[in-house]
Amino acid sequence: MKTKQRKTYDSGMIRDFIDHLKWEVRTCHFENVSAPNALNPELIDQLAKYQRKRGCFGLLTGQLTREKPDADALAEWKARRAGEMQTYIDALELLEPLFQEAVFCAANRQFINIAHKADFSCCKRSECPRPWTQPA
Ligand SMILES: [Zn+2]
Repeated sequence: MKTKQRKTYDSGMIRDFIDHLKWEVRTCHFENVSAPNALNPELIDQLAKYQRKRGCFGLLTGQLTREKPDADALAEWKARRAGEMQTYIDALELLEPLFQEAVFCAANRQFINIAHKADFSCCKRSECPRPWTQPA
């Protein structure tokens, strides 16, 4: 009888979800600070990539009004939404090293123990074994 291996997280899917969410947030921010019908080809391409790969067409709610929206109310709503998205962009950037570390660990079944040098000087140079914080 075969031993069933316990399932771990699908790290590729998690990575795609986080990246997709980042592009959604950037797109939403762009749409709320730009003129109506303004297009950003990079944002369009990035969203299309995740739509193709994951068959997911959106991670944020849209705006829907049956009547022509009041111009002042719409401007206020867009400004609030843009502010929220900027907060999310900043937070996602702040958390990126954490996401990378967690996805790396999720992809490995064993407890991840990284051997740094005694003085941790490796972390400042490219020889550091941590694959997610290599210096540029
Ligand atoms: Zn190190």
